Amino acid sequence: MKEDCIFCAITKKTKPAEIVWEGNSIVAFKDMRPKAPVHLLIVPKKHVESIAGLAEEDRAMASDIIYAAKDIAASLGLRGYRLSFNVGREGGQAVDHLHMHLLGGWQNGVYEEV
Ligand code: AMP
Ligand code: ZN
Repeated sequence: MKEDCIFCAITKKTKPAEIVWEGNSIVAFKDMRPKAPVHLLIVPKKHVESIAGLAEEDRAMASDIIYAAKDIAASLGLRGYRLSFNVGREGGQAVDHLHMHLLGGWQNGVYEEV
């Protein structure tokens, strides 16, 4: 837990978010500025800044993120979707708590940049 971290606060439920899924190490919630009809953020409860900050001990958690994405997408009936991590400012990362974007649900079923 990092005191001033918005995603730590969301995983601890001290700040609001539309949480759609929760596991032992992971929370998934709706992105507040969606870039697709379905835009979720899959976030570890442990504070790690980014993919670049992963430690050896985080292997299971990193794997949990991918499996959470797969299970959430299946539960939403998404046949195709896009998963992405932004890493660092030069990679477009704005929130310094590791998160995977899950994007999908495009109307014609075909990926569109929004
Ligand atoms: P990134 O650029 O990869 O760091 O993405 C951060 C994402 O977090 C953006 O898509 C924001 O819209 C989203 N975001 C930031 N603050 C919140 C929040 N309080 N609740 C939900 N989504 C948020
Ligand atoms: Zn955090």
